[in-house]
Amino acid sequence: MSNRVVQGRMVTAESLAEMIEGESVMEAEPIEDADRQCPDCAEDVLAVGYMPSVTEFVTGYKCQECDWRETDRD
Ligand SMILES: [Zn+2]
Repeated sequence: MSNRVVQGRMVTAESLAEMIEGESVMEAEPIEDADRQCPDCAEDVLAVGYMPSVTEFVTGYKCQECDWRETDRD
């Protein structure tokens, strides 16, 4: 499954990665369920691996219900 609903909108792996990154990404892997809950609203969190540039691979996390997001960069 690749398309998921986030904050009431259908997203693809790529558009979810772009929500997390804040700009366009080169490539994204299929969306997965992160085994964690949002620290802000306790809803389910999705995970997506993506490449913001040719030299970087990031795993991003995004809450399905609110604006919370995070990457493993930090
Ligand atoms: Zn949330």
